[in-house]
Amino acid sequence: MPLLKIQDLEMQYTTRRGPIRAVVDANLALEPGESLGIVGESGSGKTSLAISIMKLLPDNARITRGHIYLDGQDLVPLPEHRMRRVRWQKVSMIFQAAMNSWNPVYTVGDQIVEVIQNHEPKVSRQQARERIAELFHMVGLSPERMDHYPHEYSGGMKQRAVIAMALACQPRLVIADEPTTALDVIVQERILQQLDGIRRRLGMTMIYISHDVAVIAEVSDRVAVMYAGRIVEVGRATEIFKRPRHPYTGGLMASFPSLTGPKRALVTIPGEPPNLLAPPAGCAFHPRCPYATERCRIEVPPLEAAPGDGSGHRVACWHPLSGQDVRADFEARAA
Ligand code: ATP
Repeated sequence: MPLLKIQDLEMQYTTRRGPIRAVVDANLALEPGESLGIVGESGSGKTSLAISIMKLLPDNARITRGHIYLDGQDLVPLPEHRMRRVRWQKVSMIFQAAMNSWNPVYTVGDQIVEVIQNHEPKVSRQQARERIAELFHMVGLSPERMDHYPHEYSGGMKQRAVIAMALACQPRLVIADEPTTALDVIVQERILQQLDGIRRRLGMTMIYISHDVAVIAEVSDRVAVMYAGRIVEVGRATEIFKRPRHPYTGGLMASFPSLTGPKRALVTIPGEPPNLLAPPAGCAFHPRCPYATERCRIEVPPLEAAPGDGSGHRVACWHPLSGQDVRADFEARAA
């Protein structure tokens, strides 16, 4: 049974200018121990999908349809007091801005002890501290750091402590939303690799969210690509990187430096991501797509098995790529 199964999920924000459908028709399953990367440009709905799973929605946001099964239990209808027992213990999240959310007047260790004891009242302070010492060791912090205050930590150390906090209640699923963007590249890379090592060791299931394809490539077994609130392609990471089928994915891959291959010129996808207050009809990518036809302007393509592919690779496109020179075609369109 998958650990996480998202079915026909829709989430929207109510704004003064109208509703924004930030997650549309999302379907996704994750097996225990698997890592899934979610990529897409800013505003494509990655964070909205993550906070829907956590059910940590701002007041103007609402899940309007669908199911989120975690370990077989649908989280969508769960009232907040029951969700509190799921959050942090079964699913936790490492937020973009979390490293700045430490309370300055308590030691970092005490703040994590409090989270553990809130969720697991039977755990003694000493037991909690032992657990934290182990977690600190795992994330590369010396256990003595527990008794230091946040201002005594560097940015990288704060981020490591945030990761320790997310793991403190031993959740089965951890969502990391751009966990390291505020840090320099080398620190970023080291923390991500450590996080991935922890995932493997503990057999944790992980969702990594980033707009950076290189980051996602390094740590994900599978990849989902989002565009304008929809998952437009999903499959094994190696397949997505080697043989993207959606023209948007093709453009994304061509717009990042090759991870292993020779140096090559980068391409930018012409145009802007759509305004979700008034998304284009049909396939939302059609105004930017070199391969769009009349059908793409009218009908939304469903996420279906990619033609000729038995590996679970799915794509939402009326004209999936099959060996086109994406770079040349995007450049021709931009010209
Ligand atoms: P980023 O990489 O910049 O974090 P993202 O892919 O995570 O982007 P979301 O943050 O999920 O995208 O945003 C999806 C859409 O929802 C965007 O159009 C955004 O403007 C809108 N949105 C996000 N948060 C709110 C909010 N609190 N109220 C109204 N609209 C919102």
